[in-house]
Amino acid sequence: MHGKRERQISPFQRRQRGQERQRFISYPANDRGFTLLELMVSVFIISVLMAIAIPNLRGSGEKAQKAACESDQRLIRTALDSYWVENHSYPTGTTDEIVNTLVSDKYLQAKPKEPSGGQFSVIISNDTAQVSCSVHGELGDTDGVSPTTP
Ligand SMILES: [Zn+2]
Repeated sequence: MHGKRERQISPFQRRQRGQERQRFISYPANDRGFTLLELMVSVFIISVLMAIAIPNLRGSGEKAQKAACESDQRLIRTALDSYWVENHSYPTGTTDEIVNTLVSDKYLQAKPKEPSGGQFSVIISNDTAQVSCSVHGELGDTDGVSPTTP
């Protein structure tokens, strides 16, 4: 009963509300929405933009992984250098055993994980150490690695 009385409004109010409603739902007479051609052009433009952007994003990811890999390889070489300076020899064994020695002797804080899912390999021969990766090969400056190189 209360609600019924509220719904009764004067003709002036009714006209005003009608005009307000009309302002919301009226469109310019020439706006017919999008044509099929316009939609097709839009989809084409979006797909061209995506075709340009996606390989770029993928490339930057690979670049970042390679940079992280190079940084890890440098880290392992530096640890090997420090080990050599203190022990006058490199740690021996497989890559895993060498890296584990570097970690347990505190030359490395943690075992580096190859960022692209590959494997690091550390090869010690003739008192020189070679660090490389199964995905990227040998990265970074390798001159400082071996204390025995002339
Ligand atoms: Zn790598």
